[in-house]
Amino acid sequence: MSAVTIVDIGEHGPDRLRSVLSDEQFAEVRDAVATAQELFDGRVIWHVNSTARGGGVAEMLTALLPYARGAGVDARWAVISGDDAFFTVTKRVHNRLHGAEGDGGPLGDEQRAAYLEALEPNADELCDAIGERDVVVLHDPQTAGLVPRLKASGATVIWRCHVGLDTPNDIAREAWAFLREWVQQADACLFSREQFIWEDLDRERVHVIAPTIDALAPKNQELSDEVVAAILATAGLVEAEAQAAPEFERQDGSTAQVERQATTIEDSRLQPGDAYILQVSRWDSLKDPLGVIDGFVEHVAPHIEAHLVYAGPDVDAVSDDPEGAQVLEQAKDRWESMDAETRAHVHLVLLPMDDLEENAVIVNALQRGAAIVVQKSLAEGFGLTVAEAMWKSRPVVASRIGGIQDQIEDGRSGVLLDDPKDLAAYGKAVVGLLEDPQRARDMGEQARERVRGRFLGSQSLLEYLAVLQRVLEDDEPQAAPAAD
Ligand code: UDP
Repeated sequence: MSAVTIVDIGEHGPDRLRSVLSDEQFAEVRDAVATAQELFDGRVIWHVNSTARGGGVAEMLTALLPYARGAGVDARWAVISGDDAFFTVTKRVHNRLHGAEGDGGPLGDEQRAAYLEALEPNADELCDAIGERDVVVLHDPQTAGLVPRLKASGATVIWRCHVGLDTPNDIAREAWAFLREWVQQADACLFSREQFIWEDLDRERVHVIAPTIDALAPKNQELSDEVVAAILATAGLVEAEAQAAPEFERQDGSTAQVERQATTIEDSRLQPGDAYILQVSRWDSLKDPLGVIDGFVEHVAPHIEAHLVYAGPDVDAVSDDPEGAQVLEQAKDRWESMDAETRAHVHLVLLPMDDLEENAVIVNALQRGAAIVVQKSLAEGFGLTVAEAMWKSRPVVASRIGGIQDQIEDGRSGVLLDDPKDLAAYGKAVVGLLEDPQRARDMGEQARERVRGRFLGSQSLLEYLAVLQRVLEDDEPQAAPAAD
């Protein structure tokens, strides 16, 4: 294949989950494995998206698919490609699904043609590879246009939308109008929350599956305080000599060490013991990097000694996000314009992306080392970074939007900000938690249990199984009535 890339997926047996699930949860998983083996015998379950790296969808597929394979299901992951025109259109659609204008450009016949033209070679290759009994799960706007070709090849086709907004507006409806003709032809559509379901879809074929995290992946696995310190030192984020090996366990079970350094935009490195507030996000204006920075500068730094770390991927490495470099430039400009005293407390970090597991474990260490984790997005599908931080027992301050509201119970397992643009409220919430470490600790403990109960990967696997079971039953040709 040349337009489509097949991503290597490891394999995890279900027993691996025993250490993070309750007995009851684990028993449910065991039962599901037997059902899945029977249901998917002789079928491949394909997942198709447009990037193997960076962002929530890639993160989730990396986390979930090894468990499906470990359960004996032939799950595969295919990544489609496109040109600049394609990704400009899909980013526009993505922004509008979030209810935001994005670059403000049109979504007309010309964009439709560019979109479909880029999908054509991908569709050709996928149709060659996919069998009639297979199931294809297409992710996000980039893949929606593939539905008709794949349906025509006989496969069962599901489209999953990871983005949405709580109250639809006309901007979002423009994106729906662009995608609808293809999406309507899918056997089922999946959304991350009830509120994201489009107004005019056949509800019988719509299902909700909340995103989840893999507690044992490099992004979330347990790391001792010494290893956290060693990783942050080795990655060049904290000024210290590593006292332990910066070690982690790869998805394939082997042990590896962090080797690469992050690129930092800072006057001086963090010192051991410095309290820092962290946001980890792609360089996307909907993650509001400027708001995170300004709120810190205006409403946190003047009141308490703390640092801000804003970490995202090295922008050169993320191919399906044309806005990244521009948003990073804006953040840099903001940083440069600060007075020296403030600037010394603000650290912009570009994480190396050459080895995604190394990238993940640096994020893990940053999250574990943070005094408070922030996710002050203006729009959010789910917000995996929130679940990741909650699993690490961090107190999280995050916007009351999208799936973040499903994760955090305000005041108990984190703090929700009613108005994501209210920088004073954000600052107040952060300072309040920094000043009350006991409350921050209690919140962190509640947060971890919240994630254990609802947002670990095994939950998604159970939900996918239930949906596929239903879709395949609906799809089976009805047996002819017996003759008398
Ligand atoms: N992420 C990462 N490295 C980075 C920036 C982000 O691994 O440099 C991960 C982050 O930990 C999370 C995912 O990318 O797992 C982002 O998912 P989320 O749902 O928070 O936002 P999205 O990017 O899908 O809008």
